Amino acid sequence: MFFYLWLNRLFPNSFTAKVFFVAFIGTHVPLIAAVFYALARTGGLAAHLDVLGLLLAATLVGCGATLAGLWALLTPTRRIHATLTAIERGEARAPLREDIRDEMGLLMRGTNAMAASIERRQAQDQVAILTDPLTGVANRRGFDAHVPDTGTGAVVFIDLDHFKRINDTLGHATGDAVLKETARVIAGEVRQRDVLARFGGEEFVIWLPEASSEDAWRVGERVRAVISETLDAGGQPVTASVGLAVGEGPTAIKALLDRADEALYAAKDGGRNKVVESISGPAETGGFTFAPAPLQHAAG
Ligand code: GH3
Ligand code: MG
Ligand code: MG
Repeated sequence: MFFYLWLNRLFPNSFTAKVFFVAFIGTHVPLIAAVFYALARTGGLAAHLDVLGLLLAATLVGCGATLAGLWALLTPTRRIHATLTAIERGEARAPLREDIRDEMGLLMRGTNAMAASIERRQAQDQVAILTDPLTGVANRRGFDAHVPDTGTGAVVFIDLDHFKRINDTLGHATGDAVLKETARVIAGEVRQRDVLARFGGEEFVIWLPEASSEDAWRVGERVRAVISETLDAGGQPVTASVGLAVGEGPTAIKALLDRADEALYAAKDGGRNKVVESISGPAETGGFTFAPAPLQHAAG
């Protein structure tokens, strides 16, 4: 390390310069020796200009070729540096060669392996950040990541009825099992392009891109029905209330969520185990009213 550190004082910013310096000195030794030889002989430098000229030319060619070769040999260090920089910045990287067995090959394979491991962990973290650990569906962050700020479609807000009772009477573990089952059956009712998320507690939200009011009703009613028909907690049926909001053309998702939430509370007020749609209305009603009685699908 001593020699390296000494050279580092001369060339603190470049390993290439250190290597070039050593090569430069090395390739000039024969020329220097010849100059001293000539100086020691009768006639001095002037008497040996032909040989010295030849040696000088040969040294320049040899030194140039050596430096060019070393520059090429150092290519893996530049590639490794580019890869490490790309990893640090989270940018795309070109894989380094894996088929070389020398020390540079080891470094390149090690760098590839480290980059792949970091990227794998980052991808896992990214999934974990966007996923609800209990149910495996998206969490609020996942919903925000997968749903545009403004979009054409419908929001379906689902909230289990009297869920607190399940926890209180059957325990938190049963409550958790019901939440998992709820997520599973809701997931069975949505399409690939829909976004299902658990917003917290026993609230689930579905974003239905491009959905009409009829589509939203179909999904909302199917979800309400499948929960009440297939879920039970300690022998007691589990039910859910559902609020719908459908945008007319591109609408802020935040506004649709608020409207679906209000519709959900109307469903709770209306007796639970119901689907209620928020309908755009005059400004004096706060901008929307709820779907009239015929549209309110109560449990059969
Ligand atoms: P409502 O019909 O009006 O919706 O009544 P509710 O009891 O379902 O609503 P409330 O908001 O009063 O209770 C929600 C309960 O959900 C309270 C909380 O303890 C429970 N909860 C929230 N998160 C979890 C969870 O991850 N696991 C379990 N087991 N319970 C949870
Ligand atoms: Mg509830
Ligand atoms: Mg709730």
